[in-house]
Amino acid sequence: MQVLNTISETKSFLKSQRKLGKSIGFVPTMGALHEGHTSLISRAREENDVVVCSIFVNPTQFGNPEDLKMYPRTLEADSQLLEPAGCDIVFAPNADEMYPSLPNLTLDFGNLEHVMEGKFRTGHFNGVGIVVSKLFHIVNPDKAYFGLKDLQQVAVLNRMVKDLSFDLELIPCPIVREKDGLAMSSRNRRLSPDARGIAPVISKTLTRAKSLLLNGKDSKSVIAEITSHFSQMPEFQLEYFEISDFEHLEPIEKQNESGKTAICIAAYLDNVRLIDNIVF
Ligand code: AMP
Repeated sequence: MQVLNTISETKSFLKSQRKLGKSIGFVPTMGALHEGHTSLISRAREENDVVVCSIFVNPTQFGNPEDLKMYPRTLEADSQLLEPAGCDIVFAPNADEMYPSLPNLTLDFGNLEHVMEGKFRTGHFNGVGIVVSKLFHIVNPDKAYFGLKDLQQVAVLNRMVKDLSFDLELIPCPIVREKDGLAMSSRNRRLSPDARGIAPVISKTLTRAKSLLLNGKDSKSVIAEITSHFSQMPEFQLEYFEISDFEHLEPIEKQNESGKTAICIAAYLDNVRLIDNIVF
């Protein structure tokens, strides 16, 4: 496995691989890797000749400077996870390499910007869209792998790939969870032991909401029940709890019978912002 820090060496290495007829699989990350990330690398390994993982904590997708500062940076440990998972190339640029000047471009994802993550993290998807576009141009992958943990990100990037005619296939991959149901996240390591102990409430709530919907309850009453449940647990500050259709992420009144339903949540626990979702 090679670690490359510059755009030019990454481009030229991958160009040479492509000339040899090799297919390229790409997994963009912000590092602080865990099994959720390595599941994407393993999938990419199965389906491509060359596997590239980028590690870049992208400043333009953080609205909150404190969150950016606190984001864990663990390149050494990350490399130790990536090699056995089957990664060939780690692209780990610094911010000056990626942004010699800040981009003027803004991307507008329409309604996808105005719900859930978009509503609470103004400019977040603009930052994600720009950095992922840059990474796609640098790596030029055949396939790019993203976790459904960030469901709205998958929806936004699917739209971007379509609208901007990126010549690649975007592959959504399932959420990897801890044994107690907590969705794996780089942010989990910032939880105190007490907070970590109660964090699985988030995924349990999603399962509970799913079963209420399957039993015929409407979204409004399910949301009311879940919101009231959280209001009795002062450790959590619920940011949103939404029941939406999977395709457009628009709120729906009851379980989507003609397609998939997505239940999505964001909550602060111990000042750490956690997100999760369930799709059925
Ligand atoms: P991040 O480093 O958090 O930006 O995540 C990089 C990629 O890993 C994104 O496509 C995430 O959706 C994905 N990812 C993060 N956590 C998980 C998880 N628990 N299960 C599956 N994919 C994940």
